[in-house]
Amino acid sequence: MKIVVCVKQVPDTETRVKIDASGSAISEADVANWIVSPYDEFAIEEALRIKEAKGGEVVVVTAGPDRAQAALRTGLAMGADSAVHVKDAALDATDTLGTARVLAAAVKTLAPFDLVLCGQQGVGGDNSQVPGMLAELLDLPQVTVAVKVEIGDGRATIEREIEGGRETWETPLPAVVSTQKGLNEPRYASLKGIMAAKKKTIQVVDLSGLGLDAASVAPKVKVTAMELPAARPAVRMIEGDPAAQAKELVRLLHEEAQVI
Ligand SMILES: Cc1cc2nc3c(=O)[nH]c(=O)nc-3n(C[C@H](O)[C@H](O)[C@H](O)COP(=O)(O)OP(=O)(O)OC[C@H]3O[C@@H](n4cnc5c(N)ncnc54)[C@H](O)[C@@H]3O)c2cc1C
Repeated sequence: MKIVVCVKQVPDTETRVKIDASGSAISEADVANWIVSPYDEFAIEEALRIKEAKGGEVVVVTAGPDRAQAALRTGLAMGADSAVHVKDAALDATDTLGTARVLAAAVKTLAPFDLVLCGQQGVGGDNSQVPGMLAELLDLPQVTVAVKVEIGDGRATIEREIEGGRETWETPLPAVVSTQKGLNEPRYASLKGIMAAKKKTIQVVDLSGLGLDAASVAPKVKVTAMELPAARPAVRMIEGDPAAQAKELVRLLHEEAQVI
């Protein structure tokens, strides 16, 4: 089995995000830590488990600036065999379609492959568009929000989460599958894995190396504004003995919050 995993680097989910001067993007200078998008960790883990059961190789692929290589190193440290980093200044302002075009071109260079795994959404952007677009561009079947993957002979049986239950789908391989929380428990990279990752190859390629150009990734949609949620009002402490506090709380819920 050759499994390709699309890995996106995103701001640490603990980040207190700030909007930059453009008013339409987050301020990357204020992001202290970048991580592998948590849904992509499920994808990496599943690829490694399939490889451990069936043999084969796992290739992690990212499209992003220099810093995105750290996400590939994490995948390599977890146990992936090799990595592809698509890096090009034209990617800085692309949209989901441009990202999918780039990933599709990169994945094609890895053919023949059996399975392409993505997270079900890139935390932060949360578009949940890239896996579907990728499947279309690769002309492959796709199954979304997988919570169980079983690989058979040229086929996969996949359980996916739906409202209040699960569906079981069967698909021929190769296919594009997006992964959901609950699929597995991603492993931590061991020290041995981290050391081994330093020796593994990351192939760096730009758009022209994939037969693309800036026009191929020019965004069709543009983020025009981004805003943070309104700041929460300060906490109000109610003074007095418990009986007085309870009475005042009831009054506030009734008269100010108007919820009772
Ligand atoms: C400076 C800047 C400008 C931008 N301008 C625009 C703009 O004008 N218009 C616009 O629509 N968007 C813009 N974006 C957003 C950017 O293109 C997003 O990375 C892209 O839209 C993917 O969003 P997502 O994570 O929500 O994708 P999702 O569809 O939620 O991602 C799902 C899965 O696809 C895979 N995936 C997604 N992205 C990557 C990647 N880069 N590498 C590897 N795998 C990946 C992962 O497996 C991920 O879990 C901009 C971003 C930046 C940093």
